[in-house]
Amino acid sequence: MYEKPQKKLGQNFLVDKNIQEKIIESCDLKNTDVVLEIGAGNAELTRHLEKKVKKVIALEIDKKLYFSLKENFEAFSNIQIINIDILKYKIKQKVIVVGNLPYYISTPIIEHLIKQRKFVKEIFITIQKELAERIVASPNTKEYSSFSCFVQFYNECKILFHIKRNCFYPVPKVDSSFLRLTPRLYPKKVKDKDLLFKIIRTSFQKRRKVLKNTLKELIPQETIQNALAKLNLSPTIRPENLSLDDFIELSNLIYHNT
Ligand code: SAM
Repeated sequence: MYEKPQKKLGQNFLVDKNIQEKIIESCDLKNTDVVLEIGAGNAELTRHLEKKVKKVIALEIDKKLYFSLKENFEAFSNIQIINIDILKYKIKQKVIVVGNLPYYISTPIIEHLIKQRKFVKEIFITIQKELAERIVASPNTKEYSSFSCFVQFYNECKILFHIKRNCFYPVPKVDSSFLRLTPRLYPKKVKDKDLLFKIIRTSFQKRRKVLKNTLKELIPQETIQNALAKLNLSPTIRPENLSLDDFIELSNLIYHNT
């Protein structure tokens, strides 16, 4: 049925028709929407998307798949197929992003979309289940990480449903989740974003260690201790115990003291 799928490009095609439809229904698309599809593959989603929206911009890095998509959709004026690496693609209009992402670059793709968030209305993506669980994770869980904080800072995040590995061909080694990221219209108030993310990243490099010890390479220990006390947080608190709002307040206090 297919050309030999290229493992190195994360080509696991969503062959289960029910899940294809479930994904499209969950995106709640309107006929005025423009969809940016990442990794169109064999048009498993493209052919459904096309019926729902004003325009589909479908990106595909694989030349063979690109030419076959071009041929199949030649007569469709509302589909634009582009042979490009998503990480090099600049979004130029407001879009809803949809895609079954290639697993090997899911994290850089999410970062790339967050960088271009002013053009992104909503993101609907299938990713590896473990990564989805890390993204939506709450404090005090083992999945909670600096990446959870980063993605949650810019988006409301929700796993809409899980997808079993046997819905794909070839069958991957892991299950997937379908995730919705809704960019926050009013991001949380923070004095210095670079400082916030430096604190978060450094803290989680040693997640089992007491925060004030890990951060002392970045900030004087006294400043950290005072800030924790002001926030009524324990002096022996560990990074996984802090909510994103705690990190924001902590970084704002540290900003005023540095
Ligand atoms: N949309 C199809 C589906 O739902 O079955 C294919 C999904 S498959 C998991 C990922 C697709 O992304 C593949 O077609 C692959 O060739 C393409 N891809 C891989 N890396 C890419 C990149 N950097 N930029 C754009 N597309 C890429």
